Amino acid sequence: MVSISTVSTKPFGFGGKPHKPQPTVENTPRIYIGELRGAARLPLTAFAREATISILVNGKPETLDVVCDPRNFGGDGQRFFLCPACSRKVQHLYLRDERLACRRCAGLTYRSQHTKRRGLHRARDLRRKLGASEELVIAAQLRDMVVRVRRRLKHDRYRDRYSNRARTVR
Ligand SMILES: [Zn+2]
Repeated sequence: MVSISTVSTKPFGFGGKPHKPQPTVENTPRIYIGELRGAARLPLTAFAREATISILVNGKPETLDVVCDPRNFGGDGQRFFLCPACSRKVQHLYLRDERLACRRCAGLTYRSQHTKRRGLHRARDLRRKLGASEELVIAAQLRDMVVRVRRRLKHDRYRDRYSNRARTVR
């Protein structure tokens, strides 16, 4: 019998900040209709398009409805779970809060969606860090500029004094 159970997922995060992982398609235990091939083949023929199968959910037996898509009956037929919550035909069922449900009913998103958002956060953090270092660079440049200006003023004063003297001599 096919079984599914809750697995503990470690918290992950960037910069050592641990945060609770968002439930995603990737980190939620799931069952795939393809795994039930052996279990679901016999009852699913052209004569029996629906079947109820047993599955162990966290060790407890539960029943699931499996259907065969008549459109694909030319071949082996495409099998689907019926989501216990919304009865949609799906190939994957996810285990959340001790219940099996389709991706939508389980309220799951794909990790890529989070990664994109996290990428934005990282970009913002990076910009912030860059902004800080930019300020330092600007401060250093200003200091250099002040030194240069002072030096030039000194030089100019010297040159002026010299040229004044030159003028007075003339
Ligand atoms: Zn559903």
